Amino acid sequence: MKYDYLIVGAGLFGATFANLAKKKGNKVLVIDKRDHIAGNIYTENIEGINVHKYGAHIFHTDYKDVWDYVNSFSEFNRYTNSPIARFNDEIYNLPFNMNTFSKIWSDVFTPEDAKIKIEEEKKEMQDITPNNLEEQAISLVGRTIYEKLIKGYTEKQWNRKCKELPSFIIKRLPVRFTYDNNYFNDKYQGIPIGGYTKLVEKMLNGIEIRLNTNFFDNIEEYKTMAKKIIYTGPLDEYFNYSLGKLEWRSLRFENQILNEVNYQGNAVVNYTGHEVEYTRVIEHKHFEFDTTSPKTVITYEFPIDFEDGMEKYYTINDDKNNELAEKYRELSKKEENVIFGGRLAEYKYYDMDDVIKSAFEITKNLF
Ligand code: FAD
Ligand code: UDP
Repeated sequence: MKYDYLIVGAGLFGATFANLAKKKGNKVLVIDKRDHIAGNIYTENIEGINVHKYGAHIFHTDYKDVWDYVNSFSEFNRYTNSPIARFNDEIYNLPFNMNTFSKIWSDVFTPEDAKIKIEEEKKEMQDITPNNLEEQAISLVGRTIYEKLIKGYTEKQWNRKCKELPSFIIKRLPVRFTYDNNYFNDKYQGIPIGGYTKLVEKMLNGIEIRLNTNFFDNIEEYKTMAKKIIYTGPLDEYFNYSLGKLEWRSLRFENQILNEVNYQGNAVVNYTGHEVEYTRVIEHKHFEFDTTSPKTVITYEFPIDFEDGMEKYYTINDDKNNELAEKYRELSKKEENVIFGGRLAEYKYYDMDDVIKSAFEITKNLF
């Protein structure tokens, strides 16, 4: 066989696996059906600005080994994600913290004041065990914040009423009684200087890559080319949807190049009401503290229902889809020479650091 590993997908999982496999002396081939590497973390330089083409990506992690690993390919800046929320004509800081509370309630100054307010609002939930997102949100931060900062955003994001959504979706949003606008709790955070594409390029340095190459166009031949296949495409597609289709949410991005230096003063502004259809506007230059380029690139992000041919972005982890994914996982165990990894092949909401960590674990057992 010509290769030890054929890696289907040049995204973060595929690139990490390829990099580690090559380091151990394996011969690897990476293919991707797109015309570029880096999968969904791909950044494209437009007007001197690194534009996150598949949605804003902020690297954050608690794993020191993952942080050291990514820093071995690129220097990272000190970017800290602090989104602004816009609700009609009001502006708030996210995540929910003392800056948010003191603006929502003009008589809140101290953590104690904020706790008293929230406790008062939570009373409506006192005899209820939260079993949907609305109830969970109100018992976390009260109805005022739920209605201004959670309800609209979440309903646009998922196209379902908050009462019909599972509560785990907002569990990752921090609630803090300090004046700290950092969206993430992790120890390490930043953006690779020069963009993510450059970082992945370095990971894949010296590795054979074939772009515009779809695994399913030549599956039988690919299977004879390598001892093992690392598959990072959609789980159900591998099995030709034989048990049915897994569901996804998709996104539509509308990019604009503006002849102005600074459009919104922050990288991420969330639109939390129903008055507009988009959920956020990204101004890419602020990820790299660029305050001088004469132009700026902004992206409106519209959540949409997935249809065939669209990109798959968010898994829909309700019972129906989780059960179907589990059945496909059982099937995948029978594919002895194939390893399924990454967000599409595992049907999992995966942050970048967890994707790298899972490639670490898999390669540790293999090599
Ligand atoms: P992908 O990047 O999707 O790579 C899979 C690759 O496989 C693709 O390039 C695809 O073209 C290729 N492929 C698929 N099928 C085939 C085939 N048949 N033949 C050949 N090639 C194929 N994580 C964070 O840590 N921080 C963030 O701020 C963050 N923001 C996000 C924002 C959005 C809008 C979304 C949707 C996700 C975000 N994530 C974030 C998660 C992050 O995008 C993922 O963790 C990461 O991209 C997963 O990498 P992957 O290699 O598993 O998948
Ligand atoms: N969310 C919200 N208001 C916001 C931002 C997020 O209510 O301004 C909720 C929403 O339900 C969303 C979830 O938090 O689905 C997770 O959002 P986050 O931005 O952390 O995840 P991402 O969409 O970036 O994966």
